[in-house]
Amino acid sequence: MSQEPNYTFAVDTAANQNFEQLNREQPKLSLVIPCYNEEEVLPETIKRLSELMTQLCEKGKIAPDSAVVFVDDGSRDRTWQLIVQQADADALFRGLKLSRNRGHQHALLAGLHTVDGDAIISIDADLQDDIRVIEDMVDAYRQGDDVVYGVRKERTTDSFFKRATAEGYYKLLAMMGVELVFNHGDYRLLSRTALEALKKYDEVNLFIRGVIPTLGFRSSEVEYARDERFAGESKYPIHKMLSLAIQGITSFSAIPLRIIAMLGLTVSGISVVMVIWALFTRLLNPEAVPGWASSVIPIYFIGGIQLLSIGVLGEYVSKIYMETKRRPRFLIDRIK
Ligand code: UDP
Ligand code: MG
Repeated sequence: MSQEPNYTFAVDTAANQNFEQLNREQPKLSLVIPCYNEEEVLPETIKRLSELMTQLCEKGKIAPDSAVVFVDDGSRDRTWQLIVQQADADALFRGLKLSRNRGHQHALLAGLHTVDGDAIISIDADLQDDIRVIEDMVDAYRQGDDVVYGVRKERTTDSFFKRATAEGYYKLLAMMGVELVFNHGDYRLLSRTALEALKKYDEVNLFIRGVIPTLGFRSSEVEYARDERFAGESKYPIHKMLSLAIQGITSFSAIPLRIIAMLGLTVSGISVVMVIWALFTRLLNPEAVPGWASSVIPIYFIGGIQLLSIGVLGEYVSKIYMETKRRPRFLIDRIK
């Protein structure tokens, strides 16, 4: 007689109960908004979001205890004061202050780790991403989607440079095998289920928009046109953009390392041919004096490739270095 094996499943029942209780009818919505020196845009942002949330509440699409959570990423202007003032005046608004500037991705992560909604939407403080699609995102969630990507349908308001680099970058990442949703930034809805899954990724170098598609779950996309910033200027200077770009590649793909290996192989192949050629020349033509160029050029060439290769290796080594330290990704100073 065979007996059913008695498996013990490592299932976190507390968390699971939470998932089952996910309110699909009228979810508690949390908006997470990273802010860095945004005093110029905040009043308008607050006004527009307040209107929108009230509407959604009246339509019965979200729960009355939904919240807008601003994450102050160590601003040096009056951003935090504005947030506190608003939180005091209106229970819809909440605030989170990081101990210092940690960059958009970490600020976003701090917010995501703190909110308690059934559905969580991340959006920038400047409202360049059309807030009208928040309703579409909520609708998709109510129909059972766990991830809803906001996708830019056109980029006419971005400069040619920004558009070309951004779109080129998405293509480059796709070539490197990183699963990205084309033209999707960090404007998205996550259900509590998807967010709890994301929280399990505790790597220090977290490239959020690269991780989400690998989570799985039922997902969909909503399209919108990207607006211009209505006040203030971009808080993403070229060096922050570049760093995010390199981050995206090196935290998802080992292909650059493989390219180096292929390059090394090719150069070695060429060298073998060169050696044979040199030997033949030497043997067949005793008068031949080895030329200066043919000895110096390979030195430069191989030197260059070696430096480049060391540089790419260094990128990955620095990643390992950062990860092994297991430093916290953000520190919260105050919660409002
Ligand atoms: N941001 C942040 N920390 C930073 C830089 C930016 O929290 O170090 C926030 C910023 O306040 C905004 C969002 O990230 O809400 C996107 O920044 P921005 O609009 O300047 O970027 P762009 O739209 O120009 O790419
Ligand atoms: Mg912006």
